[in-house]
Amino acid sequence: MSKLFAIFGDPVSHSRSPLMHNSVFKNLNYPACYTRVHLKDGSKLRETFFNLKLSGANITVPHKEAAYNACDEIRGFAKTVGVVNTIINENGRLIGYNTDADGFIYAISEFRDIKSILVIGAGGTAKALTSRFKQENIYVSVLNRSESRLKEFKTVVDATYIWDTFKVQKYDLVVNTTSAGLSDDNYPCPKDILENILDNTSYVADAIYGKLTPFLQLAADKNITYKDGSDMLLGQGVLANELFVDGELKKDDIRKYMKKSFEL
Ligand code: NDP
Repeated sequence: MSKLFAIFGDPVSHSRSPLMHNSVFKNLNYPACYTRVHLKDGSKLRETFFNLKLSGANITVPHKEAAYNACDEIRGFAKTVGVVNTIINENGRLIGYNTDADGFIYAISEFRDIKSILVIGAGGTAKALTSRFKQENIYVSVLNRSESRLKEFKTVVDATYIWDTFKVQKYDLVVNTTSAGLSDDNYPCPKDILENILDNTSYVADAIYGKLTPFLQLAADKNITYKDGSDMLLGQGVLANELFVDGELKKDDIRKYMKKSFEL
């Protein structure tokens, strides 16, 4: 019987996940299909999942914390961060995982000697990435627009700032995890602060993929090596697909056909 998978988000029309997962299923003759679900109210996630008779799902902005609460059991790294981006239906029980952080570690593996990172943003993605960076013994600072979401970071990272309290240091890598630039032309923080940050880093990465955000454009103007979120997307997608097919497909084949979908 064919399985159905979906991505939940708001917005969700920009998501490449259907293309990526369907490319794997189609090319490897795996009996499954992957679709988009525009979900406004995160508290309806569980009910919608079961109504659609899904075998599994990915969750994107802004429902990753709601997804954690929707699950019956949380496994692996998602337990550490309280943020879920992949759900598997295991005999009627929802099992939550987080593949974003390892996807990002894969994405930055080409950047050498990363010992200090500034993360801009304090949402679900920032939470996952900062905890994972700390596991690698990296010095981590977080800069966010507002104070409230920074509270949870204070015991995890080395320094937290809002725009008014920010003090620049030297960074090996600066990562934008805000949604500024996703569907607008905003910088993730005021331009004068961002200029100062970019003048003090070796590499830049954006979690947003498929477009040159104003943040990446400024890095490009300053000749800083940068990358968008495509490799992160690929990395998390490969790990999610492995969970979806539960060992029935080879990881190298999954990566090959998922990568192929990026050429479309
Ligand atoms: P959340 O909604 O959990 O967090 C959003 C963060 O962005 C908050 O810290 C918020 O600040 C900040 N923010 C939003 N708008 C602005 C703005 N105009 N200026 C400054 N800060 C702003 O989102 P997620 O963490 O789930 O996702 C963040 C981004 O990462 C999205 O663009 C998403 O598409 C991308 N992403 C990409 C992945 C990939 O595979 N490439 C994987 C996961 C996410 P405040 O606290 O003040 O509200």
